[in-house]
Amino acid sequence: MRTAAIVRTGITRRELMLASAGLLSLGSSLTRAANTPAPAPPPGAAAGPAGPFSLPPLPYADNALDPVISASTLGFHHDKHHKAYVDNLNKAVAGTPLADQPLEKIILTTYGAADKAGIYNNAGQHWNHSFYWKSLRPQGGGEPPAALLHKINESFGSVDALHKEWLAAATSQFGSGWAWLVLDGDKLAVTKTGNADSPLTRGQKPLLTIDVWEHAYYLDYQNRRADYVNAVFDKAINWGFAAENLMV
Ligand code: FE
Repeated sequence: MRTAAIVRTGITRRELMLASAGLLSLGSSLTRAANTPAPAPPPGAAAGPAGPFSLPPLPYADNALDPVISASTLGFHHDKHHKAYVDNLNKAVAGTPLADQPLEKIILTTYGAADKAGIYNNAGQHWNHSFYWKSLRPQGGGEPPAALLHKINESFGSVDALHKEWLAAATSQFGSGWAWLVLDGDKLAVTKTGNADSPLTRGQKPLLTIDVWEHAYYLDYQNRRADYVNAVFDKAINWGFAAENLMV
C-alpha cells in the first residue's frame, strides 16, 4: 500500500495527510526506488548526469499537438528546458539525504528554505512539467467526462465559466508561472502560481495545469499568451487526466 511505503520514509503528518488524500500518488511515476535502474533517455536526448531522477518521455509524439503547440516548441520545451531541470536537480541532490527522497517530499521539505532554493526550484519544475505533459493530449478539449463535468458545473456553473477563470488566471500571472485546476476541499478551483511553485505546498490537489512561462508558447504565439491558453483549453486539454486525478 502506497501510504505505508511513504510512512517508512518518515514524512511529516501534513504530507501523510496529502498522501492519504491521493495527492502524493499523482507524481508517483516521477519517483523511483534507489535500486531501480533509470529508464533510457528519449531518442535523441543526450544523457544527463547520473542521479535518482530521470526525464520522463513525452506521452505523445512531439508533433502530436500541432498546430496548438508545434513540434519545435514541444521539442525544445521537453528536451532542453525540462531536461535541464532534471539534470540540475540530480546535481543538486547528489550525495545529500534528499537523493533518496520522493520528488514530492523534496518539494514540500525545501519550500521556503532560502538555502535550498536551487533544489526546490528544479524539483518543482520537474514535477510541474511532468504534470503538464499529462495535462495535454492530441485532439483534446471538448466535453469533460460526466463525473468531472458534474463537479465543474457544481463549482463554476459551467465549462465556459471555468474557461473564463482559467484564462484570467493564466493571463494575469505576472512573469513566469502556471495556472491550475485544483480540488480544494470538496470544490474545484482555479489558481495560479509563480515560477516553480505549485498547489502541492498549499494542500490543494492538482487536476490540470498549463505552463505560462514564455518558453511554453513564444515560438508559436510570441506575446499572445491568451491565444495559447485558449487554443490549449479548446483543443488540447486532457479532461481524462483531470477526471483520473479527481478520482484518486
Ligand atoms: Fe516550461
